[in-house]
Amino acid sequence: MIKVEHLEKYYQKDHILHDINFSIDQGEVVALLGPSGSGKSTLIRCLNGLEAYQKGAITFNGEQVEPTEKHWQQVRQKIGMVFQSYDLFPNLTVLDNILLGPVKVQHQSPKVAQASAEKLLDQVGLRDYEKAYPRQLSGGQKQRIAIVRALALKPELMLFDEVTASLDPEMVRGVLNIISKLAQDANMTMIVVTHEMNFAQQIADRVLFLEDGRILEQTKGEQFFKQPQTDRARAFLESMA
Ligand code: ATP
Ligand code: MG
Repeated sequence: MIKVEHLEKYYQKDHILHDINFSIDQGEVVALLGPSGSGKSTLIRCLNGLEAYQKGAITFNGEQVEPTEKHWQQVRQKIGMVFQSYDLFPNLTVLDNILLGPVKVQHQSPKVAQASAEKLLDQVGLRDYEKAYPRQLSGGQKQRIAIVRALALKPELMLFDEVTASLDPEMVRGVLNIISKLAQDANMTMIVVTHEMNFAQQIADRVLFLEDGRILEQTKGEQFFKQPQTDRARAFLESMA
Protein backbone atom coordinates (compact mmCIF):
# COMPACT_ATOMS: atom_id res chain seq x y z
CA MET A 1 0.00 0.00 0.00
CA ILE A 2 2.74 2.47 0.97
CA LYS A 3 6.47 1.98 0.79
CA VAL A 4 9.20 4.32 1.93
CA GLU A 5 12.78 3.81 0.75
CA HIS A 6 15.92 5.58 1.91
CA LEU A 7 14.08 8.74 2.84
CA GLU A 8 16.22 11.64 4.03
CA LYS A 9 14.85 14.90 5.28
CA TYR A 10 16.66 18.12 6.15
CA TYR A 11 15.50 21.43 7.49
CA GLN A 12 18.23 23.65 6.09
CA LYS A 13 21.37 22.06 7.54
CA ASP A 14 19.55 20.04 10.18
CA HIS A 15 19.36 16.39 9.22
CA ILE A 16 15.96 15.37 10.61
CA LEU A 17 15.21 11.94 9.08
CA HIS A 18 17.92 9.39 8.32
CA ASP A 19 17.51 6.56 5.82
CA ILE A 20 13.89 5.74 6.63
CA ASN A 21 12.72 2.41 5.19
CA PHE A 22 9.45 0.61 5.75
CA SER A 23 6.37 -0.58 3.98
CA ILE A 24 2.83 -1.03 5.13
CA ASP A 25 0.30 -3.51 3.83
CA GLN A 26 -3.36 -2.96 3.18
CA GLY A 27 -5.30 -3.13 6.45
CA GLU A 28 -2.24 -2.89 8.63
CA VAL A 29 -2.19 -0.61 11.68
CA VAL A 30 1.21 0.85 12.47
CA ALA A 31 1.98 2.83 15.60
CA LEU A 32 4.77 5.35 15.09
CA LEU A 33 6.32 5.86 18.51
CA GLY A 34 9.29 7.74 19.84
CA PRO A 35 10.41 10.57 22.09
CA SER A 36 9.48 14.17 21.51
CA GLY A 37 11.53 15.64 18.67
CA SER A 38 12.39 12.24 17.18
CA GLY A 39 10.76 13.17 13.86
CA LYS A 40 7.35 11.48 14.01
CA SER A 41 5.37 14.48 12.77
CA THR A 42 7.96 15.28 10.16
CA LEU A 43 7.76 11.74 8.80
CA ILE A 44 3.96 11.76 8.78
CA ARG A 45 4.01 15.07 6.92
CA CYS A 46 6.43 13.67 4.34
CA LEU A 47 4.06 10.75 3.74
CA ASN A 48 1.33 13.18 2.85
CA GLY A 49 3.49 15.44 0.71
CA LEU A 50 3.15 18.29 3.19
CA GLU A 51 6.91 18.36 3.65
CA ALA A 52 9.51 17.97 0.95
CA TYR A 53 12.21 15.34 1.38
CA GLN A 54 15.65 15.55 -0.11
CA LYS A 55 16.35 11.92 -0.94
CA GLY A 56 14.55 8.63 -1.22
CA ALA A 57 11.23 7.49 -2.60
CA ILE A 58 7.65 7.02 -1.50
CA THR A 59 5.54 4.54 -3.40
CA PHE A 60 1.79 4.54 -3.01
CA ASN A 61 -0.22 1.62 -4.43
CA GLY A 62 2.71 0.54 -6.54
CA GLU A 63 3.30 3.95 -8.06
CA GLN A 64 6.30 6.02 -7.04
CA VAL A 65 5.20 9.53 -6.10
CA GLU A 66 6.92 12.24 -8.09
CA PRO A 67 8.01 14.94 -5.70
CA THR A 68 5.84 17.59 -7.33
CA GLU A 69 2.87 19.38 -5.81
CA LYS A 70 0.77 18.27 -8.76
CA HIS A 71 1.36 14.57 -8.17
CA TRP A 72 1.00 14.94 -4.41
CA GLN A 73 -2.35 16.62 -4.82
CA GLN A 74 -3.51 13.53 -6.64
CA VAL A 75 -2.03 11.08 -4.13
CA ARG A 76 -3.29 13.09 -1.16
CA GLN A 77 -6.86 12.40 -2.25
CA LYS A 78 -6.31 8.84 -1.08
CA ILE A 79 -4.75 9.81 2.23
CA GLY A 80 -6.69 11.13 5.21
CA MET A 81 -4.92 13.00 7.93
CA VAL A 82 -5.97 14.16 11.37
CA PHE A 83 -3.72 16.31 13.56
CA GLN A 84 -3.67 17.51 17.11
CA SER A 85 -5.56 20.68 16.20
CA TYR A 86 -8.77 20.05 14.39
CA ASP A 87 -9.14 23.36 12.51
CA LEU A 88 -12.73 22.96 11.41
CA PHE A 89 -14.10 25.98 9.54
CA PRO A 90 -15.78 28.04 12.27
CA ASN A 91 -18.35 29.61 9.93
CA LEU A 92 -19.61 26.28 8.56
CA THR A 93 -21.92 23.80 10.26
CA VAL A 94 -20.63 20.36 11.17
CA LEU A 95 -22.30 18.87 8.10
CA ASP A 96 -20.93 21.54 5.75
CA ASN A 97 -17.46 21.08 7.19
CA ILE A 98 -17.68 17.40 6.35
CA LEU A 99 -19.20 17.89 2.89
CA LEU A 100 -16.77 20.52 1.67
CA GLY A 101 -14.09 18.06 0.51
CA PRO A 102 -16.32 15.36 -0.97
CA VAL A 103 -18.57 17.79 -2.85
CA LYS A 104 -16.26 20.68 -3.79
CA VAL A 105 -13.01 18.80 -4.28
CA GLN A 106 -14.03 15.27 -5.20
CA HIS A 107 -17.27 16.25 -6.94
CA GLN A 108 -19.29 13.54 -5.23
CA SER A 109 -23.03 14.08 -5.64
CA PRO A 110 -24.24 16.24 -2.72
CA LYS A 111 -27.04 13.81 -1.93
CA VAL A 112 -24.82 10.78 -1.84
CA ALA A 113 -22.13 12.64 0.10
CA GLN A 114 -24.67 13.83 2.66
CA ALA A 115 -26.07 10.35 3.17
CA SER A 116 -22.63 8.95 3.79
CA ALA A 117 -21.68 11.89 6.06
CA GLU A 118 -24.78 11.25 8.15
CA LYS A 119 -23.93 7.59 8.41
CA LEU A 120 -20.44 8.48 9.63
CA LEU A 121 -21.89 10.98 12.12
CA ASP A 122 -24.12 8.21 13.44
CA GLN A 123 -21.11 5.98 13.90
CA VAL A 124 -19.30 8.56 16.03
CA GLY A 125 -22.45 9.39 17.98
CA LEU A 126 -22.76 12.95 16.68
CA ARG A 127 -25.68 12.79 14.26
CA ASP A 128 -27.60 15.27 16.44
CA TYR A 129 -24.92 17.88 15.90
CA GLU A 130 -24.94 18.10 12.12
CA LYS A 131 -26.42 21.61 12.16
CA ALA A 132 -24.24 22.81 15.03
CA TYR A 133 -21.21 25.06 14.56
CA PRO A 134 -17.76 24.02 15.75
CA ARG A 135 -17.79 26.55 18.63
CA GLN A 136 -20.79 24.69 20.09
CA LEU A 137 -18.82 21.45 20.39
CA SER A 138 -16.36 20.18 22.96
CA GLY A 139 -12.78 19.43 21.98
CA GLY A 140 -13.48 15.72 21.84
CA GLN A 141 -16.53 16.23 19.68
CA LYS A 142 -14.59 18.49 17.32
CA GLN A 143 -11.87 15.90 17.01
CA ARG A 144 -14.45 13.22 16.19
CA ILE A 145 -15.82 15.52 13.49
CA ALA A 146 -12.31 16.04 12.14
CA ILE A 147 -11.99 12.26 11.83
CA VAL A 148 -15.34 12.02 10.06
CA ARG A 149 -14.30 14.82 7.73
CA ALA A 150 -11.20 12.87 6.75
CA LEU A 151 -13.16 9.62 6.34
CA ALA A 152 -15.77 11.29 4.14
CA LEU A 153 -13.09 11.54 1.46
CA LYS A 154 -12.90 7.72 1.45
CA PRO A 155 -9.18 7.51 2.07
CA GLU A 156 -7.19 4.33 1.59
CA LEU A 157 -4.70 5.33 4.25
CA MET A 158 -5.30 7.32 7.43
CA LEU A 159 -2.59 9.23 9.25
CA PHE A 160 -3.22 10.26 12.85
CA ASP A 161 -0.76 12.57 14.60
CA GLU A 162 -1.42 12.81 18.34
CA VAL A 163 -5.10 13.44 17.83
CA THR A 164 -5.84 13.29 21.55
CA ALA A 165 -2.91 15.37 22.74
CA SER A 166 -4.87 18.56 23.25
CA LEU A 167 -8.00 16.96 24.70
CA ASP A 168 -9.18 16.89 28.28
CA PRO A 169 -8.65 13.41 29.74
CA GLU A 170 -12.36 12.58 29.78
CA MET A 171 -12.54 13.26 26.03
CA VAL A 172 -9.67 11.01 25.05
CA ARG A 173 -11.40 7.63 25.31
CA GLY A 174 -14.21 8.50 22.89
CA VAL A 175 -11.79 9.57 20.19
CA LEU A 176 -9.50 6.56 20.67
CA ASN A 177 -12.50 4.23 20.51
CA ILE A 178 -13.37 5.55 17.08
CA ILE A 179 -9.87 4.91 15.82
CA SER A 180 -9.92 1.39 17.28
CA LYS A 181 -13.21 0.71 15.58
CA LEU A 182 -11.82 1.91 12.28
CA ALA A 183 -8.89 -0.43 12.67
CA GLN A 184 -11.03 -3.41 13.55
CA ASP A 185 -14.35 -3.08 11.77
CA ALA A 186 -13.35 -1.07 8.72
CA ASN A 187 -9.95 -2.71 8.35
CA MET A 188 -8.50 0.72 7.58
CA THR A 189 -4.79 1.00 6.85
CA MET A 190 -3.34 3.51 9.25
CA ILE A 191 -0.32 5.08 10.83
CA VAL A 192 -0.93 6.37 14.31
CA VAL A 193 1.35 8.64 16.28
CA THR A 194 0.33 8.60 19.91
CA HIS A 195 1.60 9.02 23.42
CA GLU A 196 -1.14 6.71 24.72
CA MET A 197 0.77 3.47 25.13
CA ASN A 198 -2.21 1.34 26.18
CA PHE A 199 -4.02 2.44 23.08
CA ALA A 200 -0.98 1.81 20.88
CA GLN A 201 -0.64 -1.65 22.33
CA GLN A 202 -4.28 -2.37 21.74
CA ILE A 203 -4.35 -1.40 18.05
CA ALA A 204 -0.84 -1.75 16.62
CA ASP A 205 -0.09 -4.67 14.34
CA ARG A 206 3.40 -3.25 14.15
CA VAL A 207 5.41 -0.57 15.88
CA LEU A 208 7.96 1.71 14.26
CA PHE A 209 10.15 3.17 16.97
CA LEU A 210 11.88 6.37 15.98
CA GLU A 211 14.71 8.12 17.76
CA ASP A 212 16.75 11.06 16.52
CA GLY A 213 15.24 10.64 13.08
CA ARG A 214 16.16 6.98 12.72
CA ILE A 215 13.99 3.90 12.88
CA LEU A 216 15.55 1.91 15.68
CA GLU A 217 12.95 -0.85 15.71
CA GLN A 218 10.26 -2.28 13.52
CA THR A 219 8.56 -4.91 15.59
CA LYS A 220 5.23 -6.66 15.83
CA GLY A 221 3.00 -4.76 18.24
CA GLU A 222 2.71 -7.56 20.75
CA GLN A 223 6.43 -8.11 20.87
CA PHE A 224 7.39 -4.46 21.08
CA PHE A 225 5.43 -3.91 24.24
CA LYS A 226 6.41 -7.19 25.85
CA GLN A 227 10.00 -7.32 24.82
CA PRO A 228 11.46 -4.40 22.90
CA GLN A 229 14.69 -5.21 21.08
CA THR A 230 16.68 -2.12 21.96
CA ASP A 231 17.58 -0.51 25.26
CA ARG A 232 16.36 2.80 23.88
CA ALA A 233 12.90 1.44 23.24
CA ARG A 234 12.83 -0.19 26.66
CA ALA A 235 13.78 3.10 28.32
CA PHE A 236 11.15 4.89 26.26
CA LEU A 237 8.42 2.47 27.34
CA GLU A 238 9.47 2.78 30.96
CA SER A 239 9.33 6.57 30.73
CA MET A 240 5.80 6.34 29.33
CA ALA A 241 4.49 3.92 31.95
P1 ATP B 1 6.63 15.50 19.30
O1 ATP B 1 6.43 14.16 19.95
O2 ATP B 1 7.06 16.53 20.28
O3 ATP B 1 5.46 15.92 18.46
P2 ATP B 1 8.02 14.70 16.88
O4 ATP B 1 8.60 13.34 17.02
O5 ATP B 1 6.75 14.84 16.13
O6 ATP B 1 7.91 15.36 18.33
P3 ATP B 1 9.05 16.55 14.93
O7 ATP B 1 8.03 17.61 15.15
O8 ATP B 1 8.92 15.74 13.69
O9 ATP B 1 9.15 15.60 16.18
O10 ATP B 1 10.46 17.25 14.93
C1 ATP B 1 11.65 16.56 14.62
C2 ATP B 1 12.81 17.54 14.58
O11 ATP B 1 12.64 18.45 13.50
C3 ATP B 1 12.94 18.40 15.83
O12 ATP B 1 14.32 18.53 16.12
C4 ATP B 1 12.35 19.72 15.41
O13 ATP B 1 12.95 20.77 16.12
C5 ATP B 1 12.68 19.78 13.95
N1 ATP B 1 11.68 20.55 13.19
C6 ATP B 1 10.37 20.28 13.10
N2 ATP B 1 9.74 21.16 12.29
C7 ATP B 1 10.69 22.02 11.87
C8 ATP B 1 10.67 23.15 11.00
N3 ATP B 1 9.56 23.57 10.39
N4 ATP B 1 11.85 23.80 10.80
C9 ATP B 1 13.00 23.38 11.38
N5 ATP B 1 13.07 22.30 12.20
C10 ATP B 1 11.95 21.64 12.45
MG1 MG C 1 4.87 15.58 16.64
